[in-house]
Amino acid sequence: MSGRLRARGTDAVDKNIWVEFTQLAADYKAVNLGQGFPDFSPPKFVQEAFCNALNGGPLMHQYTRAFGHPPLVKSLAKFFSRIVGYEIDPFEDVLVTVGAYQALFSAFQAVVDEGDEVIIIEPFFDCYQPMVKMAGGKAVYVPLRPKAEGGAVLSSGDWVLSAEELASKFTPRTKAIVINTPNNPLGKVYKREELQMIADLCIKHDVLCISDEVYEWLTYDGAEHVKIASLPGMWERTITIGSAGKTFSATGWKVGWAISSGPIIKLLKAMHQMSVFDCATAAQEAVAQGFEREYELFGTPESYFQQLPAMLQHKRKRLASCLEGVGLQPIMPEGGYFMIADVSSVKVDFNDQSSEDEPHDFRFVKWLIKEKGLATIPVSAFYSPEHSKEFDKYIRFCFVKEDSTLDAAEDILRKFREHTDIHVCPVRFQDAGYTSHCASRNTQALKKEKSL
Ligand code: PMP
Ligand code: GLN
Repeated sequence: MSGRLRARGTDAVDKNIWVEFTQLAADYKAVNLGQGFPDFSPPKFVQEAFCNALNGGPLMHQYTRAFGHPPLVKSLAKFFSRIVGYEIDPFEDVLVTVGAYQALFSAFQAVVDEGDEVIIIEPFFDCYQPMVKMAGGKAVYVPLRPKAEGGAVLSSGDWVLSAEELASKFTPRTKAIVINTPNNPLGKVYKREELQMIADLCIKHDVLCISDEVYEWLTYDGAEHVKIASLPGMWERTITIGSAGKTFSATGWKVGWAISSGPIIKLLKAMHQMSVFDCATAAQEAVAQGFEREYELFGTPESYFQQLPAMLQHKRKRLASCLEGVGLQPIMPEGGYFMIADVSSVKVDFNDQSSEDEPHDFRFVKWLIKEKGLATIPVSAFYSPEHSKEFDKYIRFCFVKEDSTLDAAEDILRKFREHTDIHVCPVRFQDAGYTSHCASRNTQALKKEKSL
C-alpha cells in the first residue's frame, strides 16, 4: 500500500510553522509571542451572545443553512454594503466558512486550475503557497522591499512594491493575485494608490484578486484600511476574506467568510458543500449579534472596532520600545497585531547541531524558545525559497497579549540583553509616554556588553 498511499496534493505540505513552533513553545512553557491569538477573552457582548445562543432552543444546536446562518449572512451583507458602497446580497454574495483559512482554501480550489499562475506578494501568510499548489496552480512571487533611499527603515509603510516588477509578473496564465492588508507578518497597510496600481493590473489582465483582510479593523496612527473591492471595476473580480477570530478576538470560534459577486461565490459554495458543508450554528449566531451591535455603534468610541486598536496601540508602542532597548530593530507596523524585528545585531552561539541546516531566523527562534523561554516566529517562513535568505534576519512578535504576558516577555528580553553581545541603536520609539524596563537600561547595558 505504501507506494500508493500519498496523493499529489500532500506533496511538500507536511511541514507547518504553526504546528512546529506552537508545540515547541508548549514543550518549553515559553512566554508565547508566537502564534497570533489574543490571550484575553473576547468582549462581553459576543460572549453573552454565544451563551444566549446556546440557551436559545433546540435549533441552535442543529445544522443551519450550509452557506451561512441566515442572521449572519444578513448582518455581514448589511455591514459591508455600507463600507464597499455596493448592495451586497446576503444569500448570493456571502459564504460563511470555518475561519478565514477555509475561505482561502475554498477560494483557491474554486478558481485555480492546473497550470494557472497566482501572484503572491511577499512576505505572505504562509498557507497561500501550499493552497495554490494543492489546487494545481503555480505561485509567482513578488517581494515588498524596504526602501533603500532616505536612511533607516522605520515603518511597515517603508516596505514597497515596485510597480514595474509587479507588472512583469503578469502573464497570460495569471489567474489571480493574493493581497493581505493589513499584512501578516509585516503590518503593512496598503495605501489607496498602491491598491489602485494593483487594481489597474488586475483589470488590464483580467485577473482575480483574493484580498485577505482579516486584520481590517486594526490600523494605527491614522493608517486607513481600504478595501480593494471598493475600487472601480474591482467588486466583480475580488474575493474579500474576513475572520470573526480576528474581528472579535475569538480565534477558537473559527468563523470566517468570503464576500464577492454572486457568480464567484457560487464557485466557492461548490467547494464548501463538498468539504465542510456547514459551520457551527451557535458561533455564527453570536458573530451575527456582534455585527449587529457594531453596525449601530460604528464610528463611535463604544465600538469594539475602535476599542481594540486603541488598546493595541499602546501594546505596539511598548513592544517597539522594548525591542529597541535591547538592540533588536523593530519595523513599526501600521496595522495588524504583529511586529517584525531585525535580530542581526545579536551574536549568538546556537550550540545546536540539529538545526545547522536551517535558516538563521529558524535557529534564532528555536534558541530563544529553548534557552530563554520566549516564543516568536521566524519571518523567512513567510517567503518563497528564492527570497527567504534575504529576509532571514527578522523574527515576528505578536502583541495581542495581556500586559502581564508582555511584562514577562520584557523581563526575558532585559535579562537576555544583559548577557548577550548586541549592538544597541539609538532609541526611536519612546514617544508614547512609555519607557520600558529594557529601554531604561539601554545605556547601562551598553557599558556592560559581554558575550554568552
Ligand atoms: N489570513 C491571515 C493573514 C491570518 O493571519 C490568519 C490567521 N488568523 C488567517 C488568514 C486565518 O484566519 P482564521 O483563524 O479565521 O482561520
Ligand atoms: N494567523 C495566526 C498567525 O499568523 C495563526 C496562524 C495559524 O495558527 N495557522 O500567527
